[in-house]
Amino acid sequence: MTEHSAPSREERQTRSHLMRLFERHGFHPRTHLGQNFLIDLNLIEFVVREAELNGDDLVLEIGAGTGGMTTFMARQAGHVISVELDRNMYQLASEAIERYSNVTLLNQDALKNKNNFAPEVLQAIEHHLAPWGPLLTGSEAGDERLEAGGSESFADDATSGDVSKLTGTELGEELHRGITPRVPRKLKLIANLPYSIATPVISNLVATEIPWSRMVVTIQFEVGQRMQATTGDEHYGALSVWLQSQCHVEMLRRLPPTVFWPRPKVDSAIMKVTPNPEAKAKIADRKFFHDYIRRVFNYRRKFLRSVLCGMYRKQLEKSQIDALLESMGFTSSARAEELDVDAHVALGTRLQQEIEKTPES
Ligand code: SAH
Repeated sequence: MTEHSAPSREERQTRSHLMRLFERHGFHPRTHLGQNFLIDLNLIEFVVREAELNGDDLVLEIGAGTGGMTTFMARQAGHVISVELDRNMYQLASEAIERYSNVTLLNQDALKNKNNFAPEVLQAIEHHLAPWGPLLTGSEAGDERLEAGGSESFADDATSGDVSKLTGTELGEELHRGITPRVPRKLKLIANLPYSIATPVISNLVATEIPWSRMVVTIQFEVGQRMQATTGDEHYGALSVWLQSQCHVEMLRRLPPTVFWPRPKVDSAIMKVTPNPEAKAKIADRKFFHDYIRRVFNYRRKFLRSVLCGMYRKQLEKSQIDALLESMGFTSSARAEELDVDAHVALGTRLQQEIEKTPES
């Protein structure tokens, strides 16, 4: 990481560099995989600068591509996990990261399905976020793992801080003395995302219990509009409510197609997302709320009352829904798209409470 010098001219991801690289290997960019590479060096620098990386950070990059951004981030972060589906790109990225001992490159689909990350990705995150486990699995599980894993389980963390050189026992003593060892402990999703999976990747990370502290991602401009839209905006929908109910969302830049090679057909945007724990704490059950939001926005323009009666027909009587809506001050002609984020959080919570107190028939 820090001991690596700045990239040489040849290493830098410019259009001519990429074209030469592809020609040498006989590869062609696969547009159906969203292979549009960021070739504006200032923008790559901008994304990484906004990530504000340091040795405590674990970076998740989805779509390593040729590894241009990967190596750039590896110089500043504690560890980088980068996922790349395409065999050819994986080969190029493997060559690019050869000199870096703090990069884990996975050759696979980052997603298991629309709603879940691939288990290998989650395992890599868990391993590098807190090698001894207290963050994700509780301190007891961590102690066990220390005993079972010994120093081996830290072997590929060699550059992430002093802790990597400790054996399991020594690390235990460090912890015992109350010294916090320096290991990556916050996850940051920093990526020029493949556009076809950008929305599920962002929503899923928010849905997990992984302690993430920031996302700086390049995505389709239209998705960026949906992420930050509010009521009255045609882009306002399930993604807007899901993210804004738990995060601060900011569009940092709008990008024209010319900053990529090959050029995509549409504009892109660099988005920054950070957690909003106060807002998140107002959601009683995030699983229920996620399901509520997704379903209610399938019928965004229909009357909320009839949509809810349909959605919860097995759990609630129509009269209960009417009473609930009335007590919250919603008229019978209210529609999902008219309710702001706070109103949806409140309504979701009330619906869940009502379902919980209604005996199953
Ligand atoms: N970060 C790079 C590349 C971005 S292009 C850069 O700009 O320098 C997006 C990359 O994501 C492509 O290399 C593509 O092959 C990869 N990709 C597409 N779908 C993927 C998936 N489901 N899982 C992991 N990688 C994927």
